[in-house]
Parts: sequence; structure tokens; C-alpha cells
Amino acid sequence: MAAEITIDITKTYPGRAPIRTRIAYALDASTVLILFGPSGSGKTTILRSVAGLEWPEQGRIQFISRTWLDVAAGIRVPPQERQIGYMAQDYALFPHYTVAGNIAYGLHELSPAERAKRVDDMIELFQLRGCEQAKPRELSGGQQQRVALARAVAPRPQLLLLDEPLSALDAPTRLRLRNELRGLLKQLALPSLIVTHDWEEALTLGDRIAVIVDGNVLQTGLPQEVFSRPMNADVARVVGVETVVQGRIIKAVEGLATVEVGPIALTAVGTAEDGPDVFVCIRAEDVTVERVGSGETSARNHLAGTVSAIHSLGAMAKVSIDCGFELTAVITRSALADLRLAVGAPVKAAFKAGSVHLIPRR
Ligand code: ADP
Ligand code: MG
Repeated sequence: MAAEITIDITKTYPGRAPIRTRIAYALDASTVLILFGPSGSGKTTILRSVAGLEWPEQGRIQFISRTWLDVAAGIRVPPQERQIGYMAQDYALFPHYTVAGNIAYGLHELSPAERAKRVDDMIELFQLRGCEQAKPRELSGGQQQRVALARAVAPRPQLLLLDEPLSALDAPTRLRLRNELRGLLKQLALPSLIVTHDWEEALTLGDRIAVIVDGNVLQTGLPQEVFSRPMNADVARVVGVETVVQGRIIKAVEGLATVEVGPIALTAVGTAEDGPDVFVCIRAEDVTVERVGSGETSARNHLAGTVSAIHSLGAMAKVSIDCGFELTAVITRSALADLRLAVGAPVKAAFKAGSVHLIPRR
């Protein structure tokens, strides 16, 4: 069953430009919709409005057949009646409660026996066995995150809202938990809205993405499509990565992976630990364009291709190259002139193995 969500709100903080958001989406049982955008773009405000923790001065929020907010009609459903699981960016665990106490927090409507059973199920699912009586400060960052997630899902909400779920973690933990969280979300089979400003997180966790800049939704779609085909320069600037194609790791030795993308083999820094199927991501700034016949460089990947399109981006130009897959480069306008590039020109595109990001793909 698809769960329709409609968010059509205006929220103005004193002395600031209004955050105006319109999102209408049909979420399947386990769809993860990513709200993606730079810091300050209004993502947290939108999520807190859906949770009922922030009150927009205008608009409507509907989920399935329920209206949670309709300012014109005077409808304001309080947070505890929305059946949502909300996880704040800093987790907001209760410091004086144990792990079990935190998880049991939203379960007062259950009988004591049911409550104990539900807490135990969550302890099991989130691998917190042995930590039941610990206080949050005694836990690692990754464990705290799991407690916060367990507390959010324990009451069996109909919608899960996660605000930057991995940003409080150190980089190595974040990387590990990204894949773990993806698995958990699929297991929970709950529609979720996840806020992030990290494109790798968006690609790993998201089924759909909405790109938000200054409170406005600029583009929605599949993460791979949005990242590889930003609709306009504003989206391109925000997403910052232009080439996202599906690949398969065919060899991984000493930290270098050979990745097949269609007929092409690329070298990337990476391992096959999370399986052979990956998204291959290359930032357009990391691609250099050479005239055919020019000298060698230190870059590991040299691909022959032809220019398929050129778009102006002010001082820069975006060059699309057909080299077996579509690769995008961003170069200065003077380089464009020096190289006498035009559509149809044969070129070589080069990028370092370290510029190829591999993201596991489900
Ligand atoms: P994001 O989560 O995308 O970083 P936020 O929703 O937190 O963005 O903030 C959007 C804008 O609203 C920012 O300019 C921020 O400074 C402002 N803002 C957020 N919360 C408040 C508040 N309580 N009072 C005043 N301004 C706020
Ligand atoms: Mg935020």
C-alpha cells in the first residue's frame, strides 16, 4: 500500500526569508525519501514540522488519509497523536534513563508484560544485548545511535523521521553504520524521511531524493538520476557530483579495485568488502580533458571519447563526454577555448583512481 505524504508549508523565523516547501509523494512500505540540501536550507525545519515539533504559519501536512496540519482549517494534531518515530540529529537520549528505559519511553500504552517484550525485541533487533542497564554516556557513538533508532521505532510508528542519522559519528563509524542502517531500514519496512547533507549517505540510504535549497524543493527523483543529471546549475552546485553510473568490481588488490562500467574497466581506490555491485561516482571537477595525442599524466584512468554536449556555467563550462558511459567534466571557459572543444570533438578524459568513489548498491 502506498502511503501518500503531502507537505505544503510556509515557515518563517523572525528576520529570515520564509521556508516554503511543497512535497507530494507516494511512499511504499519501505521507501526511504531523502531530504537533501546544504546546511541551513530548511531540512530540519521541514522534518520537525512533519513531527509536529514546529508549527508552520501556513499550509497543510497530510499523511495517508490523515490531516496533521491545516492552518486554514484550524487543524493541529499534536506530535504524540501522529504515530511517527522521530530521531533528532543529536539523538536526544534521556541521560538518566537506562538503554531499556529510553526504548520503553513511548510504550506507556502497552501492558507491562507487552512493554517488556517489545523492549526485548528491540534490544535483539538493534544488537544491544548486554547494554540494557547502561546509561547513554557509557555507550559508544554507534550504540547511542542504535538506542535512539530503537526508541523511535519501538512504538511501531507508521512513518519514521531521521534527522542526519549518522552525522554525530566519527568518520570510520559513519562509514560502517551507513550500510548497517540501510539493512535495518529494509528490515523495518517502514516508510521513512531521512534528512542529510551527505551525498554518499543519500545514495546509500535513499530510494528517492528531494533536493532542497533555501526551503524550496528543486528536484526529486531517483538519487542516481538526480546526482548524475542535475536539472539546473543550482542543483548541480548543491549535489556536486555529476557522474553516477552502475558498476561491478571485478578485482580488488591492495586497496585498488578494478571496476567494470559497461565495456570500460576503471581503476578506483576501494575494496569489494560490501559486495561487487557499486555506484561509480566521479566529481566533474576531478575530470581533466585532453586533446587526443597529448602526453601522459599521473591519472590512472584515461578514456577516449567524444564530446556530446557543452553547457556554460558562467566562468566554467560543463562538458559531457561519451566514453562508453556518459562522463561529465567541469573545466574553465579558457580551457574550453584553448582545447578548441566542440560537440563531436575526440578527446581523452582522465581522472585519478582516488577520484572514483564506489558506493555499495543494493
Ligand atoms: P538545515 O536543517 O537544512 O540545516 P534548518 O531547518 O535547521 O536547516 O534551518 C533553516 C534556516 O532557518 C536557517 O537559516 C536557520 O538559521 C533558521 N532557523 C532554524 N531554526 C531556527 C529558530 N529556532 N529560530 C530562528 N531561525 C531558525
Ligand atoms: Mg538540520
